[in-house]
Amino acid sequence: MEVHSSAAAAVAVLTAVFALGLLPVTAAEASIASYWFAGFGVALAVFASLLLHELAHAAVARRYGVGTRRVVLWLLGGAAEQDTPAPTPLADAVIAVAGPLASAALGVTSWAVALVMAPLLSPTALAALLWLGTANLAWAVFVLLPGAPLDGGRILRALVWSRTRDRHHGDRTARRGGRALGVLLLSAGAAVVILFGQFVGVWFAVAGWALWAPRTITSAETGPDAVPP
Ligand SMILES: [Zn+2]
Repeated sequence: MEVHSSAAAAVAVLTAVFALGLLPVTAAEASIASYWFAGFGVALAVFASLLLHELAHAAVARRYGVGTRRVVLWLLGGAAEQDTPAPTPLADAVIAVAGPLASAALGVTSWAVALVMAPLLSPTALAALLWLGTANLAWAVFVLLPGAPLDGGRILRALVWSRTRDRHHGDRTARRGGRALGVLLLSAGAAVVILFGQFVGVWFAVAGWALWAPRTITSAETGPDAVPP
């Protein structure tokens, strides 16, 4: 496993987003220190969740005889780099779906724990747990967007591969989807920052840029999610 230096930046940015933006809105009238403490806790938990997402890909890949060279965490998520391509389109799709399924399960579990534990938790801790659930569910939805190198791009590739019986045709389609998504996210992220002054738009803009120009940041054939240089 490898943690890219940009992952530290992502933890810092996430901590700030939670401490300055989301937690004070959800759990009003707590101390500023408690927002930072809980914000840092959620940011770390989000990264632990990303790791579990990648390990889910790796575990399912192993069932299809596909090994995982390394798992990388970085600014925009993670990647489980496989040493060989999936043997069939179905295997490709199932390996891709395993990650978002794990994230969705983590999200639902966080929410369920928050509901059950609500009477015992401080408002800030409760808000932190709810945001952890939301972040995981949002991540499950985001990575299902149909463009390489996201999981949704792999599913798109598997669909085209199974229809045309040509894996490379599927690859090209998924890469085109990734570029189109990149332009869309870059514009939407910039609009969110400029029009609404919401800091979180920066992340979407950076993610959009990484998708739009995957060659400068990622190696196209490696993993289900975006990979650092
Ligand atoms: Zn994934």
